[in-house]
Amino acid sequence: MKIKGNYFFTLREDTKDEDSKIGNLLIRSGMIKKIGSGNYTYLPLGLKVLNNIKNIVDEEMNKLDIQELSIKDDSILEDVASLNIKSYKDLPFNLYETTTKKNEIEMDSYSLINTKDFIVSNTYSFVKNDSELTNVYDNIYEAYNNICNRIGLDYKVVNGYNAKEYQVLTENGDDTVVLCDKCGYASNLNVATHKIENVDEEEKELELVHTPNAHTIDDVCEFLKLDIKHSVKALLMSVDNKLTILFVRGDRSLNEDKVLNLLDGKEMVFATDEQIAESNAYPGFTGPVGLEGCRIVIDEEILQMKNFCVGANKEDYHYINANIKDINYDLVGNIADIVEDDKCPDCGNKLSIKKSIKVGTLNNTTKELNITYLDESNQEQSPALAKFSLNLSRLFITFVEQNHDDWGIIYSNSIAPYKVALVQIDMKDKKQTKVAEKIYNDLNKKGIEVLYDNREERPGVKFKDMDLIGIPLRITVGRKIADKQVEFKKRTDKEAIDVQIKDIVKMITNS
Ligand SMILES: [Zn+2]
Repeated sequence: MKIKGNYFFTLREDTKDEDSKIGNLLIRSGMIKKIGSGNYTYLPLGLKVLNNIKNIVDEEMNKLDIQELSIKDDSILEDVASLNIKSYKDLPFNLYETTTKKNEIEMDSYSLINTKDFIVSNTYSFVKNDSELTNVYDNIYEAYNNICNRIGLDYKVVNGYNAKEYQVLTENGDDTVVLCDKCGYASNLNVATHKIENVDEEEKELELVHTPNAHTIDDVCEFLKLDIKHSVKALLMSVDNKLTILFVRGDRSLNEDKVLNLLDGKEMVFATDEQIAESNAYPGFTGPVGLEGCRIVIDEEILQMKNFCVGANKEDYHYINANIKDINYDLVGNIADIVEDDKCPDCGNKLSIKKSIKVGTLNNTTKELNITYLDESNQEQSPALAKFSLNLSRLFITFVEQNHDDWGIIYSNSIAPYKVALVQIDMKDKKQTKVAEKIYNDLNKKGIEVLYDNREERPGVKFKDMDLIGIPLRITVGRKIADKQVEFKKRTDKEAIDVQIKDIVKMITNS
C-alpha cells in the first residue's frame, strides 16, 4: 500500500483517556481507537494484524480438516450439529468459528485486557463419549501450540480447572499462575497444589487458653508467642446462602475459585450475623473443636498439621495443641492459596507465583447434548461436546506487550500488517521514485506486502513512524542509488546495511 492518499496516521503523544502503556502504543501507532471503557475498534493496520492471526488459525484448522462455520448464537449449535449426527458412524467430527463474544465476566471497570467483548476462535468437538475425546484433544492441543508459536508468542500451557490454559506471563495480568522452574510444573493459582510436609511431632493434649482481646490470628500468635504456621484460622462464609465455615493455616488466604469448585457452588460471600447465629461459632474466636450447626470445610494441609492453635468458640479463648482427631469437619479439600514459600508438588523445588493473562482454554471435559444418535446396537445415545477456544484479541495485545521497545512495536513476519516498509527519502527525486516503484512492484508480485512511505515528509518522521508501527524490514531509497544501492534494516537491528538494488528483492524474500 502507498501511504499517500490512503488512511494512515500516527500520534506523537499518549492519549489521556487510555491508562495502559500498551493501549497507548496501539493507539499512537494507528492500530486501534478507543471508543470508551473497555471498548476499542480496530483500524486498518490493527485489523490486518488481527486478520493475519486469524489466517494462522484458519491454516492450522485446515490442516486438521476442521471446517469453519458461523453461528449467530450458541443455542443453535445443537441444531446445527444434529443435522450431521444420525448414527455412531457420524462421530466424531469438529467445527470451528471465529466470532465476537461478550466478556462473560461483568466488571466495574473494563480495560485493554478485559474488553467488553473479544474476538475468539472456538473449536467444537462432537464425540460419542469422553474417551473418544483424547485423540481430538491431542490434535487441537498441537494446533493451538502451532498457532501461538507461529505468531511468535512466549506462552505457558498450565493446568486449569478441568482444562489446560494458555497463559502469557505479564505484570499487567489479571490471572495468576504457579510455576516450578526445575520440573516445569505449571498451574493456575485456582487449582494449584503444593507439597505438604509431614510433621514429625508427638501429638500433645488439647488445652484451653485465655487469650484476652486477641481477635485476629496475628494477635493470638503474638500473644501466645506462636509461629503463625502453627495456627488455623476460620473464614465464616455463605456459599449459595448456606453457612459454611472454612479453615486454613493461619498465614494463608482462602481461594474462592477452589471453594466454589469443591462445593459446586456459584457464589461465596461473607456470612451474615443471622447465618452465623445458626451455629455455635463466635466471630473472632471460631474454631473447629466442637463446632456445630454449619457446614465445615478444612484445607487438606490441616490433615498433616500437629499441635496447632484454633479458636474455642468462646469469647477470649483459644485452644492450643489441637490435632486432627480433636476437630469436627464435613469435607477436606484444596481450598487455600499457594504462597511464595511453598514447594512444588512434583519435585519439591520452591514454587514461583506470576501474574498472567489467559489467552486460550482446552477443556478436557465434555457436555452431554440434548440430541440423540443410534449406537452399534441400535440404542439411542446422546453425543457429547467439548469446546476449545483461543482469544484472538488477547493474542494480539499480549504479543505487543512482549514485543516492543522505546520506539514502538516489533512485529513478527507472520502477523505484521506489512512485512516491508519502503521509505523514499526525496519524493521530488524522479530517479528515487523510479527505483522505489520498481522494488514496490517486484515485491508485490511476489506476494510480499509493502507499505510504501511516499509522503512528502522529512526522513526522520518516516523512520520514526515505521519503527512505531513495527514493520519487520525496512528498505530506504536515497542518494545511494547513484551507486546502485539501497539501505536495508531489520526492525531489531541498530544499523542499516547497504545492499545492491538488484539483490534487494531476493534478500527480502529470504528474510
Ligand atoms: Zn517441580
